[in-house]
Amino acid sequence: MSIPQIIWFRQDLRLADQAAVRAAAAAGPVIAVYVLDNATPGAWRPGGASRWWLHHSLTKLAADLAAHGVPLVLRQGRAGVVLPALAAEAGTKFVHALDSHEPFAQTQQAEVARRCTLHLHAGTTLMPPHAVRTGSGGRYRIFTPWWNALQQQMPPALPLPAPKLTPGPALASDRLADWALLPTKPDWASGFADWQPGEAGAAAQLADFVPRVARYDQGRNFPSDDATSRLSPHLHFGEISPAQIWAACAGRPGAMPYLRQIAWRDFAVQTLDLFPDSPWSPTRDAFNRLTFTDTSTPQGAAWLRAWQTGRTGYPIVDAGMRQLWATGWMHNRVRMIVASFLTKHLLIDWRHGERWFWDTLVDADQAANTLGWQWVMGSGADSSPFYRIFAPVGQSEKFAAAAYIRRWVPELAHLGDVTIHAPWQHGGARGYPPPLVDHAAARARALAAYAELKD
Ligand code: FAD
Repeated sequence: MSIPQIIWFRQDLRLADQAAVRAAAAAGPVIAVYVLDNATPGAWRPGGASRWWLHHSLTKLAADLAAHGVPLVLRQGRAGVVLPALAAEAGTKFVHALDSHEPFAQTQQAEVARRCTLHLHAGTTLMPPHAVRTGSGGRYRIFTPWWNALQQQMPPALPLPAPKLTPGPALASDRLADWALLPTKPDWASGFADWQPGEAGAAAQLADFVPRVARYDQGRNFPSDDATSRLSPHLHFGEISPAQIWAACAGRPGAMPYLRQIAWRDFAVQTLDLFPDSPWSPTRDAFNRLTFTDTSTPQGAAWLRAWQTGRTGYPIVDAGMRQLWATGWMHNRVRMIVASFLTKHLLIDWRHGERWFWDTLVDADQAANTLGWQWVMGSGADSSPFYRIFAPVGQSEKFAAAAYIRRWVPELAHLGDVTIHAPWQHGGARGYPPPLVDHAAARARALAAYAELKD
């Protein structure tokens, strides 16, 4: 009998178009493993919402593998220790995985490769981060030229179906329930019911979206419309590959703006690869000198709490923060507005926002979250300038957010399309707070802090 091959699942929880699954299946009987690793240095423990998703995604993956007669082995610990031990139990040294580009994942891979024969395969992104180069062989820091170069290498290879798997030797596994990934009391995930984690759920979401792809460009900035694909958690957990999405959309009229957005995900990965400390450190050094609101003071703490709980008095900000808490997701336009409000109107350190998103988003992703926060802050390599301060009322009006606000801020549900964006200008609304800060004054304060930075 040929030697067992370990498939090390990570953020690639699918069987189709999964090169590690394919390579392992071609080489011998397989052992499917997922390691919950909070022990490798640099690990960012998944936040609450991500743990909820992970539980359900692993449940689905286990069922899909069971259809092939292959159990999913769950182990906990440092991947560089757990996998070699598991390989020894199984009488093999061969491990297959998709190359993962987060700094922590790279450390994991290096540790595993020291003690096992690790075959890394491409497939988490459209292209590996180092594969898109300038004419002189350098790396891009700005999206548009990088995107132009990426397109020269598109389309990606056509996606491949799930292979037939032969089970390897049976090994002991943790019980998923013992990992306690789901919330206990209170069950804050009761509003997550619309999500369908897992490969089949991702495919269904894509099938639902593809006929609407032509409307994406027009509708994607309007939070009241359901015009975006909502594939982000599926992509983060690798339940679908970007190549599968590309293949399903390319050639359809109007698909390019959507595929360009899919490419932003790759760009985030390549930016993190280039600036591995960017999750905690501003890429533009000058931003280290910015004086933020002190959140250990009663006022600073109250401001941060008001933002987190959707009680700032700005309806579009509060709608976004409540959508996030209730569903684990927030519309992209609103992510930009709430991030700008936190970092500029309240002048609170972007890392507080990044951490809150990390805990509450089902799509929390180190590369995309870092890029998003540094972009809004103005401190990233490619970012919106700091002085671009989103006016919450203006944004809410421009992007016709009335229906969105009514849905997420019920205290304002009785207000009309004109008055709902700034209720304090129309006598206020019972049970809804007045604005935490005055827009003009907050804007001036942020610009003054920024001016000092430049001096
Ligand atoms: P669609 O508009 O349908 O886009 C399709 C896919 O393209 C998304 O699923 C996503 O994978 C990718 N994508 C789109 N926009 C971006 C972008 N700006 N950066 C990177 N990838 C993108 N996205 C995450 O996946 N995880 C995060 O933790 C995350 N944090 C963010 C934080 C901030 C402050 C901001 C401004 C944006 C953040 N984003 C993050 C990017 C973006 O908001 C989400 O990817 C998008 O809202 C997901 O919804 P969708 O799947 O309907 O997107």
